[in-house]
Amino acid sequence: MNGIAGLFVPGPTNIPEAVRRALDVPMQDHRAPDLPEFTLPLFADVRKVFKSQSAQVFLFPSSGTGGWEAAITNTLVPGDKVLAARFGQFSHLWIELCRRHGLEVEIIDVDWGAGVPLEIYADRLKADTTHEIKAVLACHNETTTGVTSDIAGVRRALDDAGHPALLFVDGVSSIASIDFRMDEWGVDIAVSGSQKGFMLPAGLAILCVSQKALEARHRAALARCYFDFNDMIATNKDGYFPYTPAMSMLHGLRASVDRLLEEGMDNVFARHHYLAEGVRRAVDAWGLDLCAKEPKWHSDTVSAIYLPDGFDSGALLKRAYSRYGVSLGAGLSKVAGKVFRIGHLGDLNEIMVMMALAGSEMAMRDIGVQVEPGSGVAAAQEYYRQAENGYRDAKPGLIAAE
Ligand SMILES: *Cc1c(COP(=O)(O)O)cnc(C)c1O
Repeated sequence: MNGIAGLFVPGPTNIPEAVRRALDVPMQDHRAPDLPEFTLPLFADVRKVFKSQSAQVFLFPSSGTGGWEAAITNTLVPGDKVLAARFGQFSHLWIELCRRHGLEVEIIDVDWGAGVPLEIYADRLKADTTHEIKAVLACHNETTTGVTSDIAGVRRALDDAGHPALLFVDGVSSIASIDFRMDEWGVDIAVSGSQKGFMLPAGLAILCVSQKALEARHRAALARCYFDFNDMIATNKDGYFPYTPAMSMLHGLRASVDRLLEEGMDNVFARHHYLAEGVRRAVDAWGLDLCAKEPKWHSDTVSAIYLPDGFDSGALLKRAYSRYGVSLGAGLSKVAGKVFRIGHLGDLNEIMVMMALAGSEMAMRDIGVQVEPGSGVAAAQEYYRQAENGYRDAKPGLIAAE
């Protein structure tokens, strides 16, 4: 293939050149006396990405899934009850992981296309007067359906019920892309991974853990070894790790965090919103529907788009990839074959987004979906053209959510 391939899956995301170069370092001594000069500020700056002052950052060589495991095994006891809603493949998998660890999960099944049901969470928490529920799980951004949930609302439900359960958030496809506020929302553990908003290869689970959740480790009794917070705490405090750290990834993370903080987290969020909005305009122009049922669920990192009945999104992905070199996200589990996804997170700009839209449009027409040629691209163009300085002059009314 000539030119560049289009990577528009919702993780791994495109890596900025500066970050890619930062990954390429000679191997170094991970017990060197000057290593803490690199690691201690890195922990502190990663914490800023989560908007936290007091939580502790953990960097495990793992993918995001390992972060889920670290969150529960360091805080809970076999048989503990956790409250969780299931509305996509990722919320489902976290629940499965809890069950395999012998936790009792109170599952609330929600239609795919909606997110965390705040009223039901509130009712369950109020009814649990003996505080059997030890942790509440919330998938901030369900990547399967392109649905973002209201984490501040989950915190309110806990507070209104006067419930002491820990709040665990899967932020793998939201943190460093969609508004996230660890301290303000009273999140106890936020789990992320390196290959989405952090714009790195897969290879790190990135966690932020509140002091309250750290306390819970003294009660925790699930089997854990590699992911034990205690070993990390004992060595991280001096800037080291209990085992060989993935130094290349940590250098990449340094470059990625520098970039995010330099742009400013609120600008990062505004940029994702702005690029996502162009995609939503295109979907509208195609006359197609998002999997997200209402605007309040719209995700700024991924759009899951229903093809009309009778078309197979697997065929669409294959066509887009093999004919145009464009990778789109597949429909997973319940929506397999029905939806395709455009990942619009990480290092992207308007023209790259339009590459995804043009590729989708051509491949849809190739498999027989009757979208007007150029209609989605045109809608996105006109939206982006209004903003002279891109998302930076996202004026109210001009770049409103809907
Ligand atoms: C990608 C993702 C994960 C975890 O993925 P890994 O492949 O283990 O990094 C978890 N939750 C959500 C919402 C995700 O998007």
